[in-house]
Amino acid sequence: MGLTGAGGFLGASGPGGGEAAAADGSRGTTGPRPGQFRGRAQLLVPELLLLPEGPVRNRAVLVRDGKFRAIGPARQLIAAHRDLHPARLDGHLLMPGFVDAHHHLTQSFGKARSFGRPSEIFKTIWEPLERALDEESAYVSAKLAALEALRGGFTTVADAGTRAPVDVRVIAQATEEAGIRCVLSKIVSSGEGGPAHLGRWDGHPLVHPSLAIAVPEDAPGAVIKRTADLCAEAGAVLQIHVNEHLASVERSLKSVGRRPVEYLHHLGALGPQTLGAHATLLTPSEMRLLADSGAAISYNPVASAWKGNGVAHATLLAAMGVRFGMGTDGTRGDGFRLVDAGETAQRLAYGMASGDSSCGAGRMWLEHATAHSADAVGLGKVTGEITVGKAADFLVVHLDVPELTPSYDLRWELVRLAQRDQIAAVVVGGRLRLWHGWPPDWDGPALVSRAARLGPEVVRRAGLHRVEPA
Ligand SMILES: [Zn+2]
Repeated sequence: MGLTGAGGFLGASGPGGGEAAAADGSRGTTGPRPGQFRGRAQLLVPELLLLPEGPVRNRAVLVRDGKFRAIGPARQLIAAHRDLHPARLDGHLLMPGFVDAHHHLTQSFGKARSFGRPSEIFKTIWEPLERALDEESAYVSAKLAALEALRGGFTTVADAGTRAPVDVRVIAQATEEAGIRCVLSKIVSSGEGGPAHLGRWDGHPLVHPSLAIAVPEDAPGAVIKRTADLCAEAGAVLQIHVNEHLASVERSLKSVGRRPVEYLHHLGALGPQTLGAHATLLTPSEMRLLADSGAAISYNPVASAWKGNGVAHATLLAAMGVRFGMGTDGTRGDGFRLVDAGETAQRLAYGMASGDSSCGAGRMWLEHATAHSADAVGLGKVTGEITVGKAADFLVVHLDVPELTPSYDLRWELVRLAQRDQIAAVVVGGRLRLWHGWPPDWDGPALVSRAARLGPEVVRRAGLHRVEPA
């Protein structure tokens, strides 16, 4: 008998099975369709809904004018909204979009040029790269990064500030066109331009201003303090890299006699408005300063793996009550791989040594990559969870896949097993931004082609060379 004959391997459906009928890849007509996410209002009925308390069944969500307006038992909500046709999302999870608490949108042309570099690369890679950008290439770089982030399930990115000699308006334009929510920083190390930037995006639905000082050594202490005060008054965040590399900690000790977090505290610049990036090399007393001041940090595990000197002790920081979100640092815009790296890095760096076989389980990493990330970037009231009144920033994730079957603890399975290709829809502010990885209303592939042409030109102008192992 041939392999494809009746009962052969390729046609086999196994005992009692009927899989052969679905082997052509068709999944029938029950899957979600892009039209279900159009219009001013949608009544969505997913198979599972990921609420702050965990995944639940038989619930519906009412989205209207960009926000979640009601969440409740499906039957009740459907009965209460007879004017809306319920969109059944069988076999799919509706979950909050990921929030990237630390990104550099104008570094996307160089991400694969940084591999294998010694730890501190901002002077050798990022500064020359960003300085070689002009308006067009900065715009394309940011839009490319935004598209990559959306494809990876991020509905918000916090840009930590660019050194490109361009108006950050081009970054705002890029993220807005791509349809991602953006915490948009302006670097104000000179002490100029802070108030104007904070007031410039008033009422913008997707752009949320923030101020940045790349590293504490870039600005006089008085400027750092004044910037922190400006952010506190405006309800914005001050983004600043702290305690990332041994070299920077030692430079700080030699120049100001304090470690970076200690120094910010000494200046009076460590508070709930402060978002410190990385914080991988913290002393116990610096952890205490972070917890007591209410400052937040971004835990960036992929950045640690690729170019770090350490891994932030996230589980300990969580136990101490330090606020933290999770960030990519522009490494790769993939939310599921980020939370996986978050758990793995914690296990390898700390969990194994202490016999902590859970290391936060799945729940910690999902929460810190969504609601806690939103809180860290100053958008705790805006996004990060499926709650009435928050922005309808969400993902529709296909559950009926081998990787998640059978399912026992969905949150942990999402961290360890889920993949970007399961994301059917990415919705930001109630609007469908991606359908199976691509924008339904603008030309994503054309942007990729444009970036493929422009990127290498910028890298050449910047004089970046790849460091290969000898
Ligand atoms: Zn960074």
